[in-house]
Amino acid sequence: FIQFYVETIEVEGIRKGTMLVLRDVTKETEMDRLKSELVSTVSHELRTPLSSIYGFTELMLNRKMDLSKQDKYLKTIHSETERLSNLVNDFLDVQRMEARIQSYQKGLLNLQPLLEETTQFYAASTTNHTITFRSLTDACPLIEADEEKMKQLMNNLLNNAVKYSPFGGNIEVVLEADHHHVQFAVRDEGIGIPKSALAKLFDKFYRVDNSDSRKIGGTGLGLAICKEIVEGHDGEITVESVEKQGSTFTVKLPQSVQEYMVVPDGLDVS
Ligand code: ADP
Repeated sequence: FIQFYVETIEVEGIRKGTMLVLRDVTKETEMDRLKSELVSTVSHELRTPLSSIYGFTELMLNRKMDLSKQDKYLKTIHSETERLSNLVNDFLDVQRMEARIQSYQKGLLNLQPLLEETTQFYAASTTNHTITFRSLTDACPLIEADEEKMKQLMNNLLNNAVKYSPFGGNIEVVLEADHHHVQFAVRDEGIGIPKSALAKLFDKFYRVDNSDSRKIGGTGLGLAICKEIVEGHDGEITVESVEKQGSTFTVKLPQSVQEYMVVPDGLDVS
């Protein structure tokens, strides 16, 4: 985007000429777009949990409720508060991404137990889906990674797999490794993604514009955060999908150099 305007050149109050100024405002235009997306997403996504928390607390305070329902109301208030807190964290992550101040606390990490744990957690929290973990490697090579960010990445992908499979079905997490990489895939049998949307899927605030996605709700930030995390670990995230059949998100990360720098016997590297 180029903005242009005319400026008068004056020396001691005397007009000496005019100048045509061209300015590249692509960055500012993108920031404006993000800001207005943020305002509309915030107002839309915050309203639902807030009104539900407000409604349930009001009912409890007025003591007009059936006491046997107290636990149910508290559970709703708790889960809606969690949803709000996740939203705020996503917004903060995106702001850090914009300001390029995202930092990673990296250490040697085995992805296998993390993937197993996250899979088990999601398997226990749904009755509609069958969620399984499968490893195609005997011993998962280590990677250099930020454990919290890896958990956030897995959570975002598994959460989407469940969310976008509204009729249930199988969800499979598969771990594999080659000589230099560790790779995991999250495969679902959900609503799938139209071909035309695949290129924009990892953009901030992008959501597939169809009735299924609209009904399900979201901010369009989860996958942008996933991409940022994966690229912050020198990896790659890709997606394959067929509408009405399902999607597979694959994350490929480099092994820690220490993992494959094994010196063969007898080789002098000093
Ligand atoms: P959100 O789910 O909050 O909208 P995401 O960034 O996680 O945001 O995802 C962006 C969009 O990609 C979603 O709105 C949805 O349209 C699509 N999408 C993501 N994951 C899946 C999936 N597993 N199956 C089908 N569509 C998906």
